[in-house]
Amino acid sequence: MVEKVIKTDEEWQKILTPEEYYVTRKKGTERPFSGKYYNHKEKGIYLCVCCGNELFSSETKYESGTGWPSFWKPIAEDRVRTQPDYSHGMIRIEVLCSRCDAHLGHVFNDGPPPTGLRYCINSVALRFKKDSSD
Ligand code: FE
Repeated sequence: MVEKVIKTDEEWQKILTPEEYYVTRKKGTERPFSGKYYNHKEKGIYLCVCCGNELFSSETKYESGTGWPSFWKPIAEDRVRTQPDYSHGMIRIEVLCSRCDAHLGHVFNDGPPPTGLRYCINSVALRFKKDSSD
């Protein structure tokens, strides 16, 4: 079981940039091809920008052409949780950090093998930690 990180909006605003706050706490979306990680290819791990939860590995990152960092699976099933999102006249599956409930992005069924999933994640919701074993 993941131990939850719970903070008020005011507390999140103190530790996040305005864009990080808008995307992760207010379910915003960064403009495609604008984020720092969509074309990022270094080896390492992507953490939740809010709570440091280890979410995705560079080993499952792939070029989806969408303009957002895309992964075919999280580091472990319990690092993220999903829920239906009916906003903007669409039915999508929202992806959230399981520890702090940060909005990360959405997951779609048009990803590559072996999962067929595309976790479409906002760069601004992530913080990259380089693999120092290289
Ligand atoms: Fe988090």
